[in-house]
Amino acid sequence: MLRIGIMGGTFDPIHFGHLLAAQEALVRLSLQQVIFVPTGNSYQKSYRSVTPAEERYMMTFLATLDNPKFSVSRLEIDREDPSHTVDTLREMRYWYADQAVEFFFITGIDALMSMDTWTEYEKIPELCTIVAANRPGYDYEHYRLDNLPEKVRSRVLRLEIPLLSISSTEIRHRVAAGENLRYLLPHPVEQYIYKRGLYKDEDPRRDVVL
Ligand code: ATP
Ligand code: MG
Repeated sequence: MLRIGIMGGTFDPIHFGHLLAAQEALVRLSLQQVIFVPTGNSYQKSYRSVTPAEERYMMTFLATLDNPKFSVSRLEIDREDPSHTVDTLREMRYWYADQAVEFFFITGIDALMSMDTWTEYEKIPELCTIVAANRPGYDYEHYRLDNLPEKVRSRVLRLEIPLLSISSTEIRHRVAAGENLRYLLPHPVEQYIYKRGLYKDEDPRRDVVL
């Protein structure tokens, strides 16, 4: 039976918090690989201008290059319509239709808390196990996911990972302020950000953390 992790995200930019969550899931859940899926047109984040998908794809590619168990999918980027996790999971299932495969959708607890706003979210547990990594500021005991139905909660697997207080929002703000990025994200991603001049004009007031 194939066991495949799927790590969805805006990755604007990708950082060590994402990579650590994926690596911990890979090892602890004995997955064969983790597929990173950068969002295309991110309807959940339309309040701020998200960096073009191709740039986010490149950064995700660079960040995962040195890990043979990590790959990046263009599935959501190449889709015309806004990205919905449920569609992505359905399509992946279709790709592997001739194989016995179990999918593990890896997400931070913060993202999971708002899962009831995702399109057809109640169908998601039929398609995968949901792996919820803890994140600084969001502990399981406090956020009991009471807003989610039992059908969903029963498919959530908690993954305790070393806490990294890193977010893409913080990184964007640091670039705009000309501050240090070292040790927050892979060096090639940092170089790419400078080379392409990303996040220089980020306006902190318009940028609400999700
Ligand atoms: P932003 O600040 O723009 O929201 P982000 O750092 O939250 O960016 P996302 O692309 O929104 O990154 O997150 C993708 C997934 O990775 C989400 O499921 C999120 O919970 C998870 N994640 C992000 N950062 C961490 C972290 N430091 N530790 C664990 N999980 C994380
Ligand atoms: Mg986020």
